[in-house]
Amino acid sequence: MEVYSGKASFKGVAIGKIAEMQKAEAVVRRMHVEDVEAEIARYHAAKEQAQKEILELKEKAEKEVGEAQAEIFEVHAMFLDDFDDSVENIIREQSVNAEFAVAQTGDNTAEMLAAMDDNPYMQARQTDVKDVADRVIRDMNGGGGDSNKFTEHVILVADDLAPSETVQLDKAMVLAFVTREGSTNSHTAILARTMNIPALCQTPIPKEAAGKMGIVDGFTGQVFVDPDDPTLEKYMKMKEAEEEKAALLKELKGKESVTKSGRKVKLYANIGGIGDLNFVKENDAEGVGLFRSEFLYLQNSDFPTEDEQFKAYRTVAEMLAGKEVVVRTLDIGADKQIDYFNLDKEENPALGYRAIRICLTREDIFRTQLRALYRASAYGNIMIMFPMITSVWEVERAKEICTEVKAELTAQGIAFKDVPVGIMIETPAAVLIADELAELVDFFSIGTNDLTQYTCALDRQNQKLERFFNAHHPAVLRAIQMTIEAGHRHNTWVGICGELGADPELTETFVKMGIDELSMSPGSILPCRKIIRDMD
Ligand code: PEP
Ligand code: MG
Repeated sequence: MEVYSGKASFKGVAIGKIAEMQKAEAVVRRMHVEDVEAEIARYHAAKEQAQKEILELKEKAEKEVGEAQAEIFEVHAMFLDDFDDSVENIIREQSVNAEFAVAQTGDNTAEMLAAMDDNPYMQARQTDVKDVADRVIRDMNGGGGDSNKFTEHVILVADDLAPSETVQLDKAMVLAFVTREGSTNSHTAILARTMNIPALCQTPIPKEAAGKMGIVDGFTGQVFVDPDDPTLEKYMKMKEAEEEKAALLKELKGKESVTKSGRKVKLYANIGGIGDLNFVKENDAEGVGLFRSEFLYLQNSDFPTEDEQFKAYRTVAEMLAGKEVVVRTLDIGADKQIDYFNLDKEENPALGYRAIRICLTREDIFRTQLRALYRASAYGNIMIMFPMITSVWEVERAKEICTEVKAELTAQGIAFKDVPVGIMIETPAAVLIADELAELVDFFSIGTNDLTQYTCALDRQNQKLERFFNAHHPAVLRAIQMTIEAGHRHNTWVGICGELGADPELTETFVKMGIDELSMSPGSILPCRKIIRDMD
């Protein structure tokens, strides 16, 4: 048995096989090629390889889950056979690389399938066709197969995980995350909290651990590789106890988040997309306080269209069935990089071109998102929130654009609601001018992750700084208090959607400060409800 120690970024115990994360392929770029015939030959070689893999998958599925389930791979093979004309045509006519031609063909076919309203079966095959295109592209780039598609539950080990990589993971199969780098404030940690599974960072686990049995202890920050019997037994018991505790918390489902003296706090969930909605339900969130819409962009290889976004927002609005859903507009930049945005390299990305700054510069992107959001507003209880605000004019301009978008929709006869608009308070500047900002908006949501980073001048991604990082820094707590007071002076409700909002040591403090809403990873909601209900 070997033991490695790191930093725990989310509690819990996981027991299972260790798997090493295979790095995700880069986003497909359109490139000019001179020798189109050579490019077509590359495509055919990759296609042949993909055909072989699909056949192998079909045989495996037949053995493991039966013939009926394996039929889907015949559909994959059929899609692949139909690719040739389109791919060859795109390469020849546009003199572009085969990867681009395959991705384009996959997207076009998926769109065609999406339009088959009278055939729900074919309509549902959009993801399959994209899967086939991805497989061919992977094979063109040296393969990698289904490297991150697991057939059993795994403890996932990686150097670090970028948000663009985590979105592609088959999350249902991940028991825990262990990264060699990263910090407890990184997006991997946030993802682990959303999934309610243990996560360790800065853990020097060797690559050779892959394939072996492991235990992750999210309380002490240890990972055991090839555990001996007494260790395994101890952790099996601990896991059982954890499950019992979780079962007790489940009894709080359906109950109000209210103190004994009757003070109510809205306990909402943070989500990254439709895939997290089951966690929202499972943990009885009273709404969604932060939908990080940038994940829609991160999981795409090109700008998501208005319709694609509209569908995602509508689904969330409908699934929440009238409960409030706060959608944050695009918060890209800094640690959330997307190739197709072609953002310049910056000296100080956290202080750079990001979030609302991009939206107010590239209004076309912003307008597309706002149109999608307003259209979806007709289907539920959506609220719109702007990130990274530092000045009054930014809010005024963002609201002006909202007004223009609404006028456009009215002229087109498209239904929408005049939804509440809010901002994130995540810069010291916003805290200091909170009175002026509160006059302009319906709500504030305090982003303590960035607020801590900017207040204490501590890069939230930099693992060397953890020693200097104090999540409970009095300056941050005072900033929160000031924001709540300013908001309430102007009838603007105030919530917290940064990670601090889920800190059980601070729940009482926040309630006493007068917080109206706490939005957190779904798994933290019931423990937080318990603390609130135990308060006088
Ligand atoms: C925050 O900064 O606290 C926040 C919620 O936004 P993100 O973590 O996505 O930057
Ligand atoms: Mg933030």
